[in-house]
Amino acid sequence: MNIAILGGGLAGLSLAYFLQGSDKYDRITILEKEDSPGGLCRSLTAGGYTYDIGPHILFAKDKEMLALLIEWAGQTNKLRRSNKILHKGCRVNYPFENDLSNLPPEDLDYAVKTFLHNPYADYEPQNMLQFFLKTFGEGITNLYLRPYNEKIWKHDPCFMDTQMVDRIPKPTVEELLRSAKGETVEGYLHQLYFDYPSHGGTESVIRGLVKKLSGKCKLVTNAEVEQVSGKPGSFKILAGGKSYEADDLVSSMPIHEFIKADQDASESVRAHVAQLKYNSIIIMLVQTKKDFAGANLGFTIADKSILFHRLTKIDFYGEAYHQQDGSACYLVEVTYRQGDWIDQLSKAELESRVKQGLQKLGLIVELPEAECLAVTKHQYAYVLYDLNHKENMTFLRESYAGRGIWLNGRFGNFEYWNMDRILRESKNLAERICQ
Ligand SMILES: Cc1cc2nc3c(=O)[nH]c(=O)nc-3n(C[C@H](O)[C@H](O)[C@H](O)COP(=O)(O)OP(=O)(O)OC[C@H]3O[C@@H](n4cnc5c(N)ncnc54)[C@H](O)[C@@H]3O)c2cc1C
Repeated sequence: MNIAILGGGLAGLSLAYFLQGSDKYDRITILEKEDSPGGLCRSLTAGGYTYDIGPHILFAKDKEMLALLIEWAGQTNKLRRSNKILHKGCRVNYPFENDLSNLPPEDLDYAVKTFLHNPYADYEPQNMLQFFLKTFGEGITNLYLRPYNEKIWKHDPCFMDTQMVDRIPKPTVEELLRSAKGETVEGYLHQLYFDYPSHGGTESVIRGLVKKLSGKCKLVTNAEVEQVSGKPGSFKILAGGKSYEADDLVSSMPIHEFIKADQDASESVRAHVAQLKYNSIIIMLVQTKKDFAGANLGFTIADKSILFHRLTKIDFYGEAYHQQDGSACYLVEVTYRQGDWIDQLSKAELESRVKQGLQKLGLIVELPEAECLAVTKHQYAYVLYDLNHKENMTFLRESYAGRGIWLNGRFGNFEYWNMDRILRESKNLAERICQ
């Protein structure tokens, strides 16, 4: 038997890896649209730097999957998180609630009072905004969580569900008071230490994984899937102008792209896919003459007068990502929706707004101190857990399962999954397929 996997990102490749040990298939074909595999885990180069499509780090609660990622990456640097939130001229340690003493006095007072006397504490939250109000109180919500989430999601958190946040721990009164007094309180401990490939960026993981694929697996690049039809035992696929036949089929390419190729999709399946919301991302690499960021990796910015929501100083990743001339290099992230006003900004307008933002944050003094080295756009970056996500995906999974088609991956199965979860789901899916 043979199986076709559509999409050669981490989900498609790792599924092939977990399937190759089984006797069920003598051929596993991975069809990838681009000329190289890896999807969002590919790395880019500009100005002598290697950088990722958004800052990636290797961390996970799932130690088995994390170990695989680190093994495939080869040599890694072991690093300790140092992330700041830039708030009204203050550098507040991440997460915000753990470093309240660094806020301006009126904000500190607002955050503490509304945490201690929280009228929302006893409600069962129905959406993300209600979760924030219940868990952190009005002050922390309005000062940081609400504006930051509106900025990254381009969606009001009251129209998003709680899937992504409901595991965020609620600080105790004691922890909050210690944070207000300036005592160190570390949060989100599973992300405190992380690995990053010593060379070659996150794509090193993909290169290591591809080397582990056996002769049974055939990775075909430049194979954009254009048409899919048929049923188990006789799927037909047209990709990159060539025809393929497969007994079994998994799609790990974005579901919004898959539906365009799917010849047998019903109107209701198309309608549900059309309702799924996602964000795209602009990645800009900017070098500044001087380094005013210090020994920090990430900066998040809720201030809506600044276009970007996050900056990552890639020099922090290690020697291979740093130039020895006193400069700093930032990966700048701006989320947008297809066709919105940000999507319509020209490259010159984007550059100008980013430089103004860096100046406002004190990371450059004069605008010419920053040089934009590269700008790229990536359509599929963030799955948005809006209020209808669960219902839409339950329907779609059942519909595709009924036709014997498996969905996998961040945009294939439409879940906000990081790399470790992608591997775990690929492993689980491989076991189900081979039962
Ligand atoms: C900004 C950002 C930061 C992140 N940071 C982290 C992090 O720090 N740690 C972490 O663990 N994870 C992180 N992630 C998540 C990680 O990148 C994803 O979990 C992972 O890359 C998803 O892999 P995938 O294969 O499911 O999807 P993708 O990488 O999207 O792969 C889908 C593949 O399908 C292909 N494709 C599309 N259309 C077609 C077609 N018509 N025919 C054939 N192929 C097609 C694409 O080219 C692509 O290769 C981050 C993601 C983003 C966006």
